[in-house]
Amino acid sequence: MSNLADSSRPARPAIAWIGLGIMGSPMSENLIKAGYSVTGFTLEQDKLDRLSAAGGTAAKSIAEAVKDADVIVTMVPASPQVEAIAYGPDGILENARPGALIVDMSSITPQTSVDLAKAAKEKGLRVLDAPVSGGEAGAIEAVLSIMVGGDQADFDEAKPLFDALGKTIVLCGPHGSGQTVKAANQLIVAVNIQACAEAVVFLEKSGVNLQAALDVLNGGLAGSTVLTRKKDNFLNRDFKPGFRIDLHHKDMGIVTDAARNVGAALPVGAVVAQLVASLRAQGDGGLDHSALLRSVERLSGAEL
Ligand code: NAD
Repeated sequence: MSNLADSSRPARPAIAWIGLGIMGSPMSENLIKAGYSVTGFTLEQDKLDRLSAAGGTAAKSIAEAVKDADVIVTMVPASPQVEAIAYGPDGILENARPGALIVDMSSITPQTSVDLAKAAKEKGLRVLDAPVSGGEAGAIEAVLSIMVGGDQADFDEAKPLFDALGKTIVLCGPHGSGQTVKAANQLIVAVNIQACAEAVVFLEKSGVNLQAALDVLNGGLAGSTVLTRKKDNFLNRDFKPGFRIDLHHKDMGIVTDAARNVGAALPVGAVVAQLVASLRAQGDGGLDHSALLRSVERLSGAEL
């Protein structure tokens, strides 16, 4: 029987949250607003102070954060960071209570999720991979899409927590499936941003009113959540992240590799992956992914 069903424990599971960045901070705050007790750990002191100010508890280490937790949520950049926080004497697996549920919401390789689930099971711990889509705004507004991989019973147990963070919450299959779906998500988003960026440069060079053009385009078949969320970035050349090019570069690597493993061809995805890599190589890795516009502008001879 799971610890969460033990009647001696409070109805709401105690949460540990590791990784309080652009996404993790507002998401953990939404759990606090929903009545959960959250103990967090992250590398930056100002983010720990923010958690305390929001009503959470700042821990001094991963071990301290997870030792009494029923559910351990992780939201760090990539596979190496997930491995760093999960494994080793100071990691989650060594320090969590048996029976605890680890919910990794980072976007990482599907294989890392599969390996983590296996290692955790040997320690009597359960794991869901639960990456998200919707960006910083989706995190703040608690309207994320959450794509989950793992066992049905663990998904059912985590569902109330997911409901406090997102709107579209789907169990996609066994361990790693959430990450596979997220990789597809990142392919679609990157190609969509690239198409929007090319349209922006084309429209501006043609002398059309850009705001009017994007408004009417967004009402038709060319409309998208990408255009809705990123329109102002394009109009104002505001590339404050958001979702960093560095992270999208990581995700294009994940989808390219995963597609190669199953023999799926991604011709347009491969080109966009190169454009993301090129943007990063030119020093724009810290900008929002809407900065793909800058690469189209450079290719079109614009002075930046
Ligand atoms: P971020 O860089 O803003 O935050 C990452 C956090 O992880 C940092 O606060 C850092 O302190 C913490 N961290 C890293 N290593 C750690 C360690 N060893 N111990 C403890 N904490 C550690 O990143 P983000 O934008 O919040 O993204 C997090 C994940 O969510 C990534 O996998 C990203 O791809 C995914 N994602 C991001 C967005 C977005 O719009 N930003 C949207 C969907 C998914």
